[in-house]
Amino acid sequence: MPLPKLREIKEALTSFFSAPYTTKYPAGPAASFPSYRGLPKYDKDQCVGCGTCAQVCPSLAIQVADDPDARVRRLRVDYGSCIQCGQCQEKCITGKGIVNTSAYSLTLADVAAPEAFESVEKDLVICECCGAVIGCRDHLLWIKERLGAKAYGHPNLMLATQRLLAEVEPSEPKSRLRREDQIKDACARCRQAIVTLDEFSDMGTKDLQKEGKKMVNVRDMLEEKGQEVWTVPSDATVFEALRAMEKKNVGALVVMEAGQPVGIFSERDYARKVVLKNISSLETRVREVMASPVYCVKPETTTEECMVLMTEKKFRHLPVISEGRLAGVISIGDVVKALIGEHKMTIERLQDYIMGRYM
Ligand code: SF4
Ligand code: SF4
Repeated sequence: MPLPKLREIKEALTSFFSAPYTTKYPAGPAASFPSYRGLPKYDKDQCVGCGTCAQVCPSLAIQVADDPDARVRRLRVDYGSCIQCGQCQEKCITGKGIVNTSAYSLTLADVAAPEAFESVEKDLVICECCGAVIGCRDHLLWIKERLGAKAYGHPNLMLATQRLLAEVEPSEPKSRLRREDQIKDACARCRQAIVTLDEFSDMGTKDLQKEGKKMVNVRDMLEEKGQEVWTVPSDATVFEALRAMEKKNVGALVVMEAGQPVGIFSERDYARKVVLKNISSLETRVREVMASPVYCVKPETTTEECMVLMTEKKFRHLPVISEGRLAGVISIGDVVKALIGEHKMTIERLQDYIMGRYM
């Protein structure tokens, strides 16, 4: 019999004196390893309420809800939808606002129970001119810390700092902008208008509010085109999908699996992945040729954000998810149409300035 090597003797001795590798369950609770990436948890002091974690969450488990009347932003993680990917922790701007704990999600017996959700609330800063949401107060203070003395160049950051010393009640939105509004919490649109007002002419808040409505988002686009959305199950054949497209007179269908969108099947996919490859549309399943993964948007997503997503990811359709269900689909045509409308109004607005109609 060959003699054991030194390394093997060392390992045998180490394992003899070290703790068992396996868990002691059911004799004791099954503790996860410290490096296990489990359910994420907010740290109220470290989170500044920027909402980045919600934007990067691939399963849309994090929802952000602003309550301008109560001046509060609520961020909520739905553990039932969280896939524990760690993106929220990875991309958190402070690095510590949300942290994956070592808790398992499999222990959740009731997905609607309070412990199935994790949330944090942050104070909102509201535009004193038009009432729009500017951001969270802690976020402004975080930016101010990073900018140092330069932060005093921006009234919003300066006011956030001053309010640490003495709380000053913000004023209610007003019917008209004035030059002295420079030193008020103001959203980017109002701030631009106040500076322009100071330089050139007068402008009522009514005009600003009209202008505000020109910031078209997914909800506006769905209101215009309707919320009808045509879907096809992922195990349907390509032929069945084509028949459905012909019947509904549409160029693409959202592919569904277990009630969730998993891809998009379009005429382009048919042409490139079925016709050109000479495969049978009667035998091929939609899931084999659909465009996947699919990126979803929310009703609050703006046209610019949709355009960036579509351009970067090379998508022509974006399903809309509202309160966990499919609420519509936005095409590249809808986005381009909305952007042209927005730009047309901006041009008209600039013409009004040039012609002096705001005097
Ligand atoms: S761990 Fe992943 S899925 Fe879960 S909340 Fe964070 S980003 Fe979303
Ligand atoms: S600070 Fe971090 S945890 Fe808080 S909202 Fe921003 S990204 Fe999310």
